[in-house]
Amino acid sequence: MTDKLSTFFDSGIYRFENSNAVFIDPVRAMNRSYTRFRVSPSEYYSRFFESKPAGQESKVSSNSRKRKRKEKKKKPHALNEREKIADQRHQEVRPLLLKAHECLMRETDLLEVMSNLRSDFDSSRGCGDSVSPGVLEQSFVELGRVWQAPLYEITLNFNQCEKSNADGGSPIMQYSEQGVLPIFDNLVLNETGDDIEAEFLSSQYVIPRESSFYMYPSRVAMCAQILTFSSSVSYTSLYVLFFVVMWKSDLGQIHNLIPADSGCGFNLIVIDPPWENGSAHQKSSKCTLVSGTYIIKTVPSKTRHSIYFREACLRTRMHGRGIQPSAPASDVATREGRRRPRVRAASCHVAAPESGRRGPTRPKSGRLSPYRPYPTLPNHYFLSLPIKQLTHTDGALVALWVTNREKLRGFVEKELFPAWGVRYVASFYWLKVKADGSMINDLDLFHHRPYECLLLGQCHRKAMDSNCQSKSKPVQDNQIIISIPGDYSRKPPVGGLLMDYVPGFKPARCIELFAREMISGWTSWGNEPLHFQELRYFIRD
Ligand code: SAM
Repeated sequence: MTDKLSTFFDSGIYRFENSNAVFIDPVRAMNRSYTRFRVSPSEYYSRFFESKPAGQESKVSSNSRKRKRKEKKKKPHALNEREKIADQRHQEVRPLLLKAHECLMRETDLLEVMSNLRSDFDSSRGCGDSVSPGVLEQSFVELGRVWQAPLYEITLNFNQCEKSNADGGSPIMQYSEQGVLPIFDNLVLNETGDDIEAEFLSSQYVIPRESSFYMYPSRVAMCAQILTFSSSVSYTSLYVLFFVVMWKSDLGQIHNLIPADSGCGFNLIVIDPPWENGSAHQKSSKCTLVSGTYIIKTVPSKTRHSIYFREACLRTRMHGRGIQPSAPASDVATREGRRRPRVRAASCHVAAPESGRRGPTRPKSGRLSPYRPYPTLPNHYFLSLPIKQLTHTDGALVALWVTNREKLRGFVEKELFPAWGVRYVASFYWLKVKADGSMINDLDLFHHRPYECLLLGQCHRKAMDSNCQSKSKPVQDNQIIISIPGDYSRKPPVGGLLMDYVPGFKPARCIELFAREMISGWTSWGNEPLHFQELRYFIRD
């Protein structure tokens, strides 16, 4: 085995020689956070590993070809100003991406390893097997919306040890210490040097060593629900209240993470906001229960806010009367008045939780599988994120994931970074490939580029002095990160690649905003930072 491969097996990062590109295996990179568990490759890589019977194309590539044909069929139209700028950006980065991709395709040893990444550690005991059939994934977004959210608690099991089973069966876990803490609106910490297991509503979670999460419920929806109970309030006033509160404070709870002493601030801030865009994934979902089956429908994002609001009210009223939420999407009011939104065909059907269970312990809509698309927020919401106040005295490297929409890039450069007090320093690109090394889409597909951009900037509490500057290495622009994407727009873990450029002393203090997973040494903040921590995503070591 080459040195480069053995480093890759250990770190999950493969550096190409004389190149600004790296290949990442997120599973291996994330495994560095765990002592007693490993991330399950088959749970992480649920796409882009289709085996293609000879002569048959994969669904992905045929879809991509269909899209390409569609784009070609469209009458050529003159690009508008924004499209021209977007195309210019693409033309600039295109040769860099092609060069990085050529490097990957030359590394035959790595390509061989890549084709097996999904089946790595297959012989190990997967925790997913211990999840009883029919037990569905927890939706923290849904749970956070109900009025009971402040009452939910998580149990942390410290000092675990395996005891052999007297019956000769698999060993039993024993815990000598437990901690019970509110799960929402609270900083939950694992300060120990070991992974711990946690329990919440009969699901198990893995919390990496020296990590913390702050999960917050959407106060807006809770507020709407509580107010709906007092039915004397009219819909108009609720709408007004909803929009005022939503505008002002939906992201407000992040202020609880601002340290009293800036010496306890963060040196690395990674942000992957729930941007709005036109893709199906980002469209909001609406869930109805028909004959014991949840039907999830996607709703155009334009109508999203009013739909959430009405949904919250409808659901609360119905729960109050013991009725399942099943208002047809066509009954939902739109922002533009009472015109009916066009609702796309149902995108998935999933089994509903057992009927008959009622009461405050678990709202029926809180346990759904597969994962529902997450709610998105309009751009201007992000202006209020207190990045400067979160920054450490020594400064912070800020890494922001953006989509390829030119409007968004313009907003970040002209409004968002200036509002946060962040100075742009470099762009990295995440090139998405399949298990055989080919790109997931044609590089030139206008609306479906096989890459995304990570914008890097520096933030300082005060004007930077030369002492501060010397503490971090200058960031090299245009680096390419290649990886096989996981599901649900999961981003590859970039912390390891960025650490060299992080100002201040090591170990750096790191935070991820809008996180769906936890990393050892990091704080994860968002409305579902425990999502990918569920035991089903892990293998017991
Ligand atoms: N980086 C994550 C990953 O790789 O898995 C993906 C983050 S995803 C783009 C955005 C996240 O923000 C989703 O988990 C979504 O539920 C969450 N989110 C949406 N609205 C939010 C809000 N108002 N406050 C906090 N988080 C929110």
